[in-house]
Amino acid sequence: MAMESKKIVSFKSLNKTVGRFSLKERTFLIPQMNRIGGHLLAATFRGFGIRAKVMDTYKGLDLGIEYTSGKECYPCQITTGDILYFMKKEKERLGDAFDPDNYIYFMPESSGPCRFGMYNKYQRIILDSLPDLNRLKIGALTTDDGYSLSGLIESQRVSDLRRTSYFSVVVADILDRLLWRIRPYEREPGSTDAFIEESMHRMENIFEKHGPGKEFDRILDEMEVIIKEGKDLVDPGSPKKPLIGMVGEIYVRSHVHANQDIIRVLERYGGEVVNASIAEWMNYTSYDRLRDAKIAFRLSMKQLRFGPMKEHLKKIFGYGSELYYQEFRQRKVYDRLASLIGIVRDHKIGHLEEVIKEDDLFSFDAGTEACLSIPGIMEYAREGFNGVVNVYPFTCMPSTITASIIKPRMNELGIPYLDTPYDAGIQPGREAAIRTFMYQAYQHFNQHGRKAA
Ligand code: SF4
Repeated sequence: MAMESKKIVSFKSLNKTVGRFSLKERTFLIPQMNRIGGHLLAATFRGFGIRAKVMDTYKGLDLGIEYTSGKECYPCQITTGDILYFMKKEKERLGDAFDPDNYIYFMPESSGPCRFGMYNKYQRIILDSLPDLNRLKIGALTTDDGYSLSGLIESQRVSDLRRTSYFSVVVADILDRLLWRIRPYEREPGSTDAFIEESMHRMENIFEKHGPGKEFDRILDEMEVIIKEGKDLVDPGSPKKPLIGMVGEIYVRSHVHANQDIIRVLERYGGEVVNASIAEWMNYTSYDRLRDAKIAFRLSMKQLRFGPMKEHLKKIFGYGSELYYQEFRQRKVYDRLASLIGIVRDHKIGHLEEVIKEDDLFSFDAGTEACLSIPGIMEYAREGFNGVVNVYPFTCMPSTITASIIKPRMNELGIPYLDTPYDAGIQPGREAAIRTFMYQAYQHFNQHGRKAA
């Protein structure tokens, strides 16, 4: 019996309207994860002549909840709400002139084993169900090729855009770390937030102007000025506070609405916090691609398959030089800026894999952010942090793995540790848990002191 065509679900749109599309004459919509990183990335793209815009976030959470079932990861609900809200507002603003084909909605993905790879497919299905929005394309960069930007702009500018984008991520990490370094010790309450907001806009202008020419030293000159100005906000008489390391799922730990501004809450109870960086994830994706290519090369060598060997060797060279570049660039930025005010540096991903292997805690073969969180916590512990917080969406797979592995280790080491899963609800006991955790962190601090920085 012939099926009614209306009931046939077509997945053609997953190929036709999810992928890499030219950004020429279109507005590139960037979801806001960490505010500073999103804005500097958008400024970098604008410098390269791309109309890039960071969307407002969290204002459309009701829409996100309406169009999801509740089983999805929390970041999927938030980003779904963000794009639907943005489109709704654009339709109201432009009326008949509104055309969804004028935008590319940026939603990167990662290949399994968790659900991040499905966000853009799920959002595609939602957009396809809305007649006004079914032509809105989703720009999906993937970790499979280390977030390659090929196809977005003219091929001869791709490498410059990629490198400047990476550089903007590192600079944004530093601005975030500057905020967390100064705010707990500020003389005037509220002055750090205002200063960092203003500094972010300064850096946006600098990136638009000097990013395309890769004038990195010129950009760092401005950062140096900002850090020196930031130091003046600190009360010199304020005593050092317990140092808290933060790890977890990249979106929720970086998105202040999603994590109910946990860093500020920890600061309210007397902590100074260092969150894991965004560049760390980018370095990890390059490292992981390189690692996969090396494994595949060794296998084809054993099997004496010369064609694949050549292919894998090419990949090793490509991902290897990308990783080398990223680590080199990141080191240069931290070398110049970190010591100005004692900003904590990232670990090399290769080092984190060694840490995991030492105690056989997990394996990079399994992938996901657990590869960063587990050794990251171990390193915080070794370096003299006074407590660690794991921040993640409720039911997040990698973070739940992290919690199950790391909790007993932290107990053995006597380091205060707290799991904080988040969804759209407010947990009544959360603040009490954070207070108790900070009490323990203070005890640790009083007994052992803290990391030198
Ligand atoms: S990392 Fe966690 S929140 Fe993100 S897709 Fe995977 S399971 Fe979901």
